Amino acid sequence: ASTHFGFEQVNEEEKADRVRQVFTGVADKYDLMNDAMSMGIHRLWKDYFVQSLPLKRDAKMLDVAGGTGDISFRALRRFPRAHVTVCDINEEMLRVGEQKAKEDRTLDSSRLSFVVGDGEKLPFEDDSFDAYTISFGIRNCTHVDQVVREARRVLKPGGLFACLEFSQIHPALRTVYDAYSFQTDFSSLISSTGLRDVRYENLSFGICAIHTARK
Ligand code: SAM
Repeated sequence: ASTHFGFEQVNEEEKADRVRQVFTGVADKYDLMNDAMSMGIHRLWKDYFVQSLPLKRDAKMLDVAGGTGDISFRALRRFPRAHVTVCDINEEMLRVGEQKAKEDRTLDSSRLSFVVGDGEKLPFEDDSFDAYTISFGIRNCTHVDQVVREARRVLKPGGLFACLEFSQIHPALRTVYDAYSFQTDFSSLISSTGLRDVRYENLSFGICAIHTARK
């Protein structure tokens, strides 16, 4: 069986462990690896993702699976009066991000918080954030539906959910049907959690997609 993101279903604990190990081992090389593997294109997708977020200037935003801060830092540069919480299950990824933020003069690091937490069980109160983002993170989670339910819980009424993710594991293996079924499956999963106004947009001919919704 495969999940919404074309992953083979593996034992749940095994998957969670594997994900933790992978990101612990690569935290300090993560940015370099990203550039090498996507030939830098991930930067353009992330730029576009953040540029397209309809946020208010002083939004309180949560970036889940935020890793080393790629989305959060872009959001804060675009909205210098926002407050962004970067949440990740892996402390080392957050530590690398925190260090990067301190060294970056374009960022006011007092407007950033780094919190260790699991996207499936977020350590935040209900109705806390104006926006929730997750970029290249949801495919690493074991229960995608639980991640989206948690997103809905922590969003304020009217708050924005936005997810950037690969449509399939490898574009060369993707058929038109698969791309279509991914979009419809994930959109209906989002709707089933009670989020509304679900939309999606394809990037780079469907290699990635942005899904958005409102609480
Ligand atoms: N969002 C960043 C970006 O776009 O560059 C990082 C993406 S990285 C591919 C995936 C991140 O998801 C890793 O930092 C990993 O630790 C985190 N992650 C995996 N499972 C998670 C979970 N259940 N809850 C929160 N973060 C998780």
